[in-house]
Amino acid sequence: HAADDPAAVPVSAGSREIPAVLGADLRVPVKGGRLVPYANLDYAASAPCLEPVSAAVAAALPAYSSVHRGAGYASQLTTARYEQARHSVRAFVGARPDDALIFTRNTTDAMNLLARCLPEGTTVVVFDSEHHASLLPWPRAVRLAPPAFPGEAVRAADEALASIEGPALLVVTAASNVTGELWPIAGLAHIAHRYGARIAVDAAQLVPHRRLNLTALDLDYVAFSGHKLYAPFGAGALIGRPDWLARAEPYLRGGGAVRAVGDAPDLLEWSDDPEARHEAGTPNVLGAVALAAACDALNATGWKPLIREEKRLLARLRAGLATIEGVRELSLWGPDHPRVGIVSFTVAGRDAREVAETLAAEHGIGVRDGKFCAHPFVRHLLSDGGAGDGGCEDGATGAIRASIGIGSTAEHVDRLIEALREIAAR
Ligand code: PLP
Repeated sequence: HAADDPAAVPVSAGSREIPAVLGADLRVPVKGGRLVPYANLDYAASAPCLEPVSAAVAAALPAYSSVHRGAGYASQLTTARYEQARHSVRAFVGARPDDALIFTRNTTDAMNLLARCLPEGTTVVVFDSEHHASLLPWPRAVRLAPPAFPGEAVRAADEALASIEGPALLVVTAASNVTGELWPIAGLAHIAHRYGARIAVDAAQLVPHRRLNLTALDLDYVAFSGHKLYAPFGAGALIGRPDWLARAEPYLRGGGAVRAVGDAPDLLEWSDDPEARHEAGTPNVLGAVALAAACDALNATGWKPLIREEKRLLARLRAGLATIEGVRELSLWGPDHPRVGIVSFTVAGRDAREVAETLAAEHGIGVRDGKFCAHPFVRHLLSDGGAGDGGCEDGATGAIRASIGIGSTAEHVDRLIEALREIAAR
């Protein structure tokens, strides 16, 4: 039966069309009680669910049981679905044959897992521009200031790694959750490896927008979250070199991570398979199925049409913002540096929270405001340490972030621009 052959487990149907997202026809109340179509411009927080993701989860619901345990049909089928999901996610990032893929709760969990697996004495090097998920798991890390230009990132990493004795790990984002800017991860991987160090890439904001090939880029680890990849909620992944993971203490102590348990407390034999070792307990199978369905759907669509559409809308958004007096876009490396569909900005003299609340309450527009879980970086950009063109003092309440993806439309973008124009002029 199907459970004998994971390839027979239905995964999302491969369509070359850009898949639809759920909730595209959502209408929300605005001031005065009117209902208006929701303009979701907050994809970088969590992207809406793709239809093939919803279908894959629905298909997995009628028969399930715990994985890797039972002989019964439902258990066999669920094990096959789960391992098929691992296969799809590995393929999505171009993993090497011997890479491990640990399903985690999200990127934060993946980075914390990696932090627990570092060999004794490892020095971590991280840029201050990271999201807290990648900044905070290593409290004794060497922290580097946000670089003034991409080549400076490589030079600063080079200098830091040159002075480190023993194992080292460079942690860096692939695409900033604040500015959307793409980081020179290939160059940074090259530098890390020159010193025998490893590189871990936070790909949470890259994978919803661009293909990532871990093998081609020679990355040691990548981490990302399903809920930013159109696959809500609760599943993410850490993918990479198996050796550190296979030797580290299990992330969670419990069933599945252990091969044999004797009568005395120290008579334990942990699994040396890194995936089993770090996935104790019953896993989030539906989360893994959802994540894999998103990966399959994006790969089946192909990236060209997705990127073309995103670039078109992003250009419209940025051009619109540039026409509003008092609006300043935040960027580290200047307006021409390549980026994914994320733009953060301030409105002169306006509190970011107040602007975001007005956009929601009066125009039915969802954006994010604040410091985006990247406090040091946003402080740096607001105090004009980035390549902005003047303006905000440190201590400002933060910025406003608009982000787009599959399902975003020109109408959403235009509505935001017109609403901001009105708010800025008040
Ligand atoms: N890294 C980046 C670049 C992010 O944008 C985010 C989420 O905002 C995270 C990590 C953390 O993701 P999660 O909350 O899913 O762990």
